[in-house]
Amino acid sequence: MQYKNRGVTLERLELLLNGRSYPDKYAISIRSQLYGESADPTRLVVLRDTGNILFPAAKARLAEFVPCKIGNTFGPSWHTHWFYVELQLRPEWLKDQDEIHLLWDSSSEAMIYNMEGKPLQGMTGGDNTDDEYRNSYVVYRKGHREDVDPSGVVRFFVEMACCQRSGNFFNGNMEEGLDMNKMFRLAQCQLSVFNRDAWDLMLDFRLLVDCAKHLDTTQQSRADEALHIANEIVNRCKPIDPATYPECRELAKKFLSVANSSAQHTVYAVGHCHIDMAWLWPFSETRRKGGRSWSSQTELFKQYSPFNFCASSASLYEWVQQDYLLLFKEMQMYAGEGRFQPVGGSWLEFDGYVPAGESMVRQLLYGQRFFKKNFGKYCDVFFLPDTFGYSAQLPQIIRLGGMRYFFTQKLSWSRFNKFPHSSFNWKGIDGSCVLTHFPPSDTYCGQGDMNDILMSQTSFKDKGRSNCSLYLFGIGDGGGGPLPQMIGKLQRMKDVAGIPKVTLSESVSGFYHHLEATSHDLMTWDGELYLEFHNGSYTSMGHNKKCNRICEFLMRDAEMFATFRSIVVDGDSKNYDRKLYDEIWKKMMLFQFHDVLPGTCIRLVYDVTDKEYAVMIDQLKTNIEGSLRSLCNSFLGPDIAKDKGTNTVVLYNSFNFDRDDVLEWVDGDKRKFSRVTVKGMGCAAYPVSILDKLHIKTEECSCLERADTIAIDTPLLALVLSLDGQLLSMKDKSTMEYGEPKTMREIIAGDAIYPGGNTVCIHDDVPINWDAWDLWVYYQETRRVLKAYEHTVAKDAQSVIVTFKYTISEKSSMVQKVVAYNHTKRVDFVTTVYWHEDHKVLRTYFPLAIRTDFVTCDIQCGNLKRPTVANTSWDMAKYEVCSHKFVDMSEAKYGAALLNNCKYGYSARGNLLGMSLLKSPKTPNDMADMGTHEFTYSLYPHQGTHTVLF
Ligand SMILES: [Zn+2]
Repeated sequence: MQYKNRGVTLERLELLLNGRSYPDKYAISIRSQLYGESADPTRLVVLRDTGNILFPAAKARLAEFVPCKIGNTFGPSWHTHWFYVELQLRPEWLKDQDEIHLLWDSSSEAMIYNMEGKPLQGMTGGDNTDDEYRNSYVVYRKGHREDVDPSGVVRFFVEMACCQRSGNFFNGNMEEGLDMNKMFRLAQCQLSVFNRDAWDLMLDFRLLVDCAKHLDTTQQSRADEALHIANEIVNRCKPIDPATYPECRELAKKFLSVANSSAQHTVYAVGHCHIDMAWLWPFSETRRKGGRSWSSQTELFKQYSPFNFCASSASLYEWVQQDYLLLFKEMQMYAGEGRFQPVGGSWLEFDGYVPAGESMVRQLLYGQRFFKKNFGKYCDVFFLPDTFGYSAQLPQIIRLGGMRYFFTQKLSWSRFNKFPHSSFNWKGIDGSCVLTHFPPSDTYCGQGDMNDILMSQTSFKDKGRSNCSLYLFGIGDGGGGPLPQMIGKLQRMKDVAGIPKVTLSESVSGFYHHLEATSHDLMTWDGELYLEFHNGSYTSMGHNKKCNRICEFLMRDAEMFATFRSIVVDGDSKNYDRKLYDEIWKKMMLFQFHDVLPGTCIRLVYDVTDKEYAVMIDQLKTNIEGSLRSLCNSFLGPDIAKDKGTNTVVLYNSFNFDRDDVLEWVDGDKRKFSRVTVKGMGCAAYPVSILDKLHIKTEECSCLERADTIAIDTPLLALVLSLDGQLLSMKDKSTMEYGEPKTMREIIAGDAIYPGGNTVCIHDDVPINWDAWDLWVYYQETRRVLKAYEHTVAKDAQSVIVTFKYTISEKSSMVQKVVAYNHTKRVDFVTTVYWHEDHKVLRTYFPLAIRTDFVTCDIQCGNLKRPTVANTSWDMAKYEVCSHKFVDMSEAKYGAALLNNCKYGYSARGNLLGMSLLKSPKTPNDMADMGTHEFTYSLYPHQGTHTVLF
């Protein structure tokens, strides 16, 4: 080889590989020789705009199909067109050495069916790069001629879905907004002779080029060996002359056949296709993405072995079972062979922070139940590769869901700190552990490139403890999973000196078994796996999150009271509407998907969830009422129940702790308040006469309006509000210290920036990217404190209500009722916001007279401590965290909790508790969060620590 400039030689290699700027007609590259002779369709007809119909309905209307031409355009976005195509193979093609492909590119996603309605393969055309393009289906291969009739005619139906792999946006750019009128060109429909010899040489050569480019030149000579051999191949290969290929492949073999030692790192490569249940497309499209993607993989099983594929999300399996039964049966067959591998054990890949504990439990219950029923066994690997952070409660739920292993990679997206492990034990808040693996290639959508395989070794962080890693490859969403060339590339890396060994024959579960058996002294990570990214997703699409919270609460009551009714009243389950609860749970779980609940989908998705949540909430309320009426009649007995005078009130407590609380009730036209007690998960009957006697005797709240403040006195607190709406002072009258009454304790510690509790601020919120997903730390650097322009005071026997009105901007406003009660220290902020902002975040702050270095956050089935300090970069990164019903800031003997009825994003720095109320991102949904929002948050001071909340 005559070279002194490595760069020039490498660029020359690229010429043979892909031709660079030379069009295929000049036959510079091997790629240009992949396809030879071709034949256009003998018949091409279409039925336009069918809606989302299934194959039988499309075939039944074949008589209505009309002729169309290659080059015609179809649309608009999300519409469906069904094609029927006939093509004729030439007799001379039907020799054993030939391989004939159907090439289809409708600039969109599409699915090919045979005449019996079996989905054969998905297609992904359009403006994807070559490495993402799936446009060929193998019609005829080395004697296999399933789709070819004796006269050489092939017939297919093709379902064209007017969507692109990553949604339909103007100029393909999410930031430019949804293009509802996008049109798609039928660019290609033909049979073509495939040149497998050229394909094999191309993949051999590509690996050589990658080795020349990427292997370490300082430690070994393999990179230079590869460069020399590849250069020699360029000298000898005449792309247009297949007779030159064998000697070139022999040259390549000289390099590729040199094996590693047994000490080499092993990469377990498993095909995968990450499918978001809804994101930049509606739910209805995902049903079809499942069919397209998974049929593409069963088709590849026929061509490549060893090669396995894994897929999560029982709900998507159920959709495929409903819409593509023939495909589902094929998947079951391949699952029996260990090739199609269900993973995850969950209903779908849910959000890891916002769903309640019971929701997470149900995700695993419904998922594992489905997999056991349809695939004969439970999954043992929990699988959330793309979720935006992982609750510290998950290890226990995973273990109780019958799994020991966990897979994700999302923490590689963290912005500030590199997670220190690849293979480790993850410990949850109860002490449960799961063996966890983050693929060091930092992807779950690999392309089978050598670089990924090298990275699997170089970025592996637990060297010395283990020597293997997992690699998931395949294009997600509309891309259909692995492409043939990915498998071809990985097959070639089975054992090539200098590159980690690659095995394609193992399962995801098998990888973990191997990891468990061969690793030693793995490290432990205790607590949450916090993603230092996407922390705006705790707040985006607030109404959607509120509906999820309401449904979670209602569902608990509905199932519990229906169970009580079955046991106490009916003696059987005839009135237990399990079918309805199953249906609602499935929808709730679907809407907890890791883009839907975080608020990061396009508008079309929330059009569906808004409607469905309203129906679910209605159904659950109706069922709760039915159960309670039945229980009430039973409890009171037939005699009292008949007494329509209803002189007795039956109270139910669905919590598992006893309640001693104030009941608000109406006697004629009078509101009354009575102190009542009800056992945990129990009920109590109160005759009205008794309720009357139990009216609260504590002294009434008083309110004094001064020139610049409003002073409220309750039996428990002394409050001072500014006329701007801030809580300047909150003193606890019942403070005790060392068993003795203490001078009233001040809870608020305002300063110049945050003069009081409930300082409501509006900040600029322009993420560097990922608009709906992120709240970047610099939002804190811009701030405008909102000041009420008007207030009114109202008072009754139970409470004082001060209503403040705010102007947020010309477009937005807020009305807030600050409510102080005479029976509790809790102060409520009942809020209505008319929100029409662009790139702003609305937050409230409470500077507290509390000195602590951590807060206690409510999470699934437990709580978690998080730092209030920012000493380290790990502490600093938690400037916005997810909490459920409360965040509590306590010293040893005193504290205060910030409660909410539907919010999830908090900050805690120093003595300042903050809560995110509303965001206003424009991408991918330019109407996100626009409109009216109602929510309540509360400040609850208390003696002792957060444990008083239980
Ligand atoms: Zn995803």
